[in-house]
Amino acid sequence: MISAFALSSPAVQAADGFSYANEKFADIQMLRYKVEGFEQLTLQQKTLIYYLSEAALYGRDILFDQNGAYNLRIRKMLETVYTDYQGSRESKDFKALTEYLKRVWFSNGIHHHYGSEKFVPGFSQTFFRNALKSVDRKKLPLEQGQTVDRLCDEIFPVIFDPAVYPMRVNQKDGEDLIQTSGENYYGRGITQAEVEDFYAGMRKTGDERPVMYGLNSRLVKENGRLVEKKWTTTGLYAEAISRIVANLKKALPFAESEAQKAVIGKLIDFYVSGDLKDFDAYSILWVQNTDDLVDFTNGFIEVYGDPLGFKGSWEGFANFKDLATTARTETLSRNAQWFEDHSPVDPRFKKKECKGISAKVINAAILAGDLYPSSAIGINLPNSNWIRKEYGSKSVTIGNLTDAYNKAAHGNGFDEEFIYGSDIKALIKQYGDLCDDLHTDLHECLGHGSGKMLPGVSDDSLKAYGSTIEEARADLFALYYLADGKLVELGLTPTPDAYKSQYYTYMLNGLMTQLVRIKPGNTIEEAHMRNRALIARWVYEHGKADNVVELFKQKNKTYMRINDYGKLRTLFAQLLAEIQRVKSTGDYKGARQLVENYGVKVDGALHKELLQRYKKLNISPYKGFINPVYTAVKDSRGNIKDVRISYTETYEHQMLRYSADYGTLPYINK
Ligand code: ZN
Repeated sequence: MISAFALSSPAVQAADGFSYANEKFADIQMLRYKVEGFEQLTLQQKTLIYYLSEAALYGRDILFDQNGAYNLRIRKMLETVYTDYQGSRESKDFKALTEYLKRVWFSNGIHHHYGSEKFVPGFSQTFFRNALKSVDRKKLPLEQGQTVDRLCDEIFPVIFDPAVYPMRVNQKDGEDLIQTSGENYYGRGITQAEVEDFYAGMRKTGDERPVMYGLNSRLVKENGRLVEKKWTTTGLYAEAISRIVANLKKALPFAESEAQKAVIGKLIDFYVSGDLKDFDAYSILWVQNTDDLVDFTNGFIEVYGDPLGFKGSWEGFANFKDLATTARTETLSRNAQWFEDHSPVDPRFKKKECKGISAKVINAAILAGDLYPSSAIGINLPNSNWIRKEYGSKSVTIGNLTDAYNKAAHGNGFDEEFIYGSDIKALIKQYGDLCDDLHTDLHECLGHGSGKMLPGVSDDSLKAYGSTIEEARADLFALYYLADGKLVELGLTPTPDAYKSQYYTYMLNGLMTQLVRIKPGNTIEEAHMRNRALIARWVYEHGKADNVVELFKQKNKTYMRINDYGKLRTLFAQLLAEIQRVKSTGDYKGARQLVENYGVKVDGALHKELLQRYKKLNISPYKGFINPVYTAVKDSRGNIKDVRISYTETYEHQMLRYSADYGTLPYINK
């Protein structure tokens, strides 16, 4: 599970001389992250990270194809025009194509990475067709005997027609979510009901250790029957997966321990067999491997890209522990049982025994697949509920990414525009970053790991509302405890008042400022955004009689004020208890009511005002990261004798290099 990051933005160069902020396009600001401590690692650790990053980068095409059946061809068409076009590069059309391509790279496809709506190209069909005809046809993704015109006829509706695949992941209540979503997890002509029946049929009653059905395959209809096309070294995506496996094998001899070797070995087994029991076995080994400095994820992990939450999008990630700050999350983990025992939820839904919630702060070394360029900053895995229950989960906060966000955000004018009151402004300035980090830690280390399901309740009974409810549960757990004296006692917050900075920014974000990420007329779709809106609006409405949180206007601008922090905490507690009840009992109706009533709708007038105010600040609502470049220095026998890191590669160079060097898949994958 991931917890995305709130709004932030650019400064040019930080005091440490490193340039965090990089280029801007569309609604995106590119950042660089610094791999703090890489140079101090041993050669063995550096070599391990090197091969794990190679294994990560080789999966890039998988995600493009998962996100849409036409994405790989569209990317190739755009890239070829971008690099080979001989006409004017200053024309409006060419510039618009450049921006469109940068967005496609960023989103790993033609839909927005966050809102999932299809991009509207700013260049004409005529321009693109002529440009494609002007370049070397050998560089175009043509099928045998296909002309460039035929290719255009086939692909252009996907790019230009707003009615074709308007959303990558459609979550609109009442529609067939499979038939109306543009992702490529399901073959054509399959309905939502068929998918639900297919996977319901796989579940065996009484199986307390179910695999995550459907996680590693595309579901298609063949001769009227539904069949899974597994993603393995010999199945769908074999070309990419075999290269991933080859690099995992190269990483093996450099593993830090036998336990870590076993983790890598089991992952290889899974990529070969496609058997989800192997994936569970790998996850169990992985979650128990906590002593080594270097760690990684590589595979089909998160299910946000599937409207029904079965299919795992591919991601790759290599990282290593930040020892100094890990002390903070270890303190929380050590006290996990205390937090569970004292939470405001019904005792029936509490864990009697909190197991092995390991938590650490890590530094990202490479981001790939669904974590690139846009990345989560907190991750809690594995996602399998029974493994979490029996073996615990590993929770990480990615320190160097958080740091890059923070460093790039200071002084962008956001706080001055939206925060009301000098006292709270000062508090946010002093404790804002710290309490943001603590919120993430509490959300990841304790929130997701807390609570239990009642016996017999299925993990996916909340269906499309499951992700939103789960994120709300973790956020509420964090919000409730941020204000607890226990955090001061544990030395995690310096003063009893510090939490107010987080209460204010969380409410402000949920009630108002996160709406700047949404286009006029749209509703809230993304699970983390829905969760924040749900929480903020629910407590706002339920505290209205006591004026707990107040929205008011001054000079035609809407502001927010918190009048009673104590009562606000009580409201968070009430909602946490209710959300935990919904989750533990699998109350689909309750989940739907909460999400639809509080998490989806947008107040049009307020939205318009916020967009205008935000626009003036010239801040990009979304951020993503350019990876560092690792170069293996080899001796005459081919052994790695050093791994060098550099931070100079540009965004477009990196993307073109990845397409050239790590482009593994055919343009069409069936
Ligand atoms: Zn989360």
